[in-house]
Amino acid sequence: MTTRTTPATPRVLISGGGIAGNAVALQLLRAGIRPTVIERAAGPRPGGQAVDLRGPSRIVAERMGLMPGIRRYQLDERGMVYVDSTGREAARMPAELFEGKGAVAEIEITRGDLNQVLLDALAEEAARPGAPGVDYRYGERIHALREHAHGVSVEFASGATEEFDVLVGADGLHSTTRRLAFGPEEQFSTYLGGYTSYFTMPTPAEVRPHWMTVQLLPGGAFLAFRPDADPATTKAMISVRRPADPALRRDTAAQKRLLREGLAVGGWLVPEVDAAMDRAEDFYFDELARITMPRWTTERIALVGDAGYCGSPLSGQGTAMALVGAYVLVGEIVRTPDRPAAALARYGEILRPFVESAQQLPPGGVKAMTPRTRAGIRASLALVRLTTSTIMRPLMTRMLSGTDDYTLPDYSTDLPTAEQGTLPR
Ligand SMILES: Cc1cc2nc3c(=O)[nH]c(=O)nc-3n(C[C@H](O)[C@H](O)[C@H](O)COP(=O)(O)OP(=O)(O)OC[C@H]3O[C@@H](n4cnc5c(N)ncnc54)[C@H](O)[C@@H]3O)c2cc1C
Repeated sequence: MTTRTTPATPRVLISGGGIAGNAVALQLLRAGIRPTVIERAAGPRPGGQAVDLRGPSRIVAERMGLMPGIRRYQLDERGMVYVDSTGREAARMPAELFEGKGAVAEIEITRGDLNQVLLDALAEEAARPGAPGVDYRYGERIHALREHAHGVSVEFASGATEEFDVLVGADGLHSTTRRLAFGPEEQFSTYLGGYTSYFTMPTPAEVRPHWMTVQLLPGGAFLAFRPDADPATTKAMISVRRPADPALRRDTAAQKRLLREGLAVGGWLVPEVDAAMDRAEDFYFDELARITMPRWTTERIALVGDAGYCGSPLSGQGTAMALVGAYVLVGEIVRTPDRPAAALARYGEILRPFVESAQQLPPGGVKAMTPRTRAGIRASLALVRLTTSTIMRPLMTRMLSGTDDYTLPDYSTDLPTAEQGTLPR
């Protein structure tokens, strides 16, 4: 294949307007490249609870100039408390215990707010005099694609066909781009044994402000409450251990039935959560699954974020991987904009060590998170207390160091910061 016809400002299509897609779009725009973004939903998707920024992802957020926006929405979350079925405290894990490397990091922001920070930065960047702007299309998705020597022909669901030099698949765990360019989802996805759901609810008076509060329910369910930027609301999370059931994919009523089965045993604030589920406007449900692929790129197509390397919420690193992946991908595209195949290959090589480390799951996975019996719950809580003991803390902190050793490439000569503004091309 030749890449000689690629212009110095390639036409880039991004499929998916989540954290990964919007981070790619922002970086391209800053580099003077006009991105086209298509998002299947009719508008920005709200929802999701706190996501962490630490280590390399925090550095990327700083380099992308996102920190002022993040500070506006940053949550004051101080750690994790386990309660029993009456709401009485059973174990406590303050955020500073493992130097901020535990379940709650120094910087926590809800997924929806972080997406809004990215969209605000995109709008601001697009409005700068001389900026190439962004072509953002909601309610659109790819119907078919054909990769050829000079780029990718994309047929949209709306009927139009357009040519692009590079296609970025940032369309999440069930990526259409991955299916069309690399093969069926089953080839790359490993089901991890459960489902998870997030939604916003009015803050119950009994919930501890500023703490993630967790209750383990007999039968294999995990119920948690996490702070929201607005103290009047709380993010509820329910995870249940169940065999895979593909029929759940697009059936919201069946998804809620499954969650209610998990809650049926009752417990602290369970009736309030049950009632809030139907009123929530941002109900989100998906399987816990991991995507592993031998390569995330072809000559003209790159996958970024959950589409290429979903670690599942169990890894706690989905957003970190999306931000770091977007940063490396655009950094490499901008280094050789007229040779996208070389840029995409370098992206894969450079990012691989970070992803391999970030995709690690906590020991025991879903089973450890959702013990089925009362004895299993007691054992889990005893283990939490043990890990927070003075003797175990240094060992735990070392085990949680995860992606700290990754050396993030520095693209400062090719990728302008927010202060430098858009590069002329
Ligand atoms: C509503 C929501 C809430 C979430 N909440 C949490 C949470 O609380 N905790 C957590 O750890 N993770 C959560 N996640 C997952 C988390 O956002 C990702 O793991 C991480 O941020 C990586 O993001 P991503 O952009 O790769 O994928 P995603 O965040 O899944 O974004 C993918 C985007 O692509 C869009 N899309 C999907 N298919 C198509 C298509 N065919 N064409 C065009 N667009 C398409 C989706 O609508 C979505 O906006 C949530 C995801 C969503 C969508």
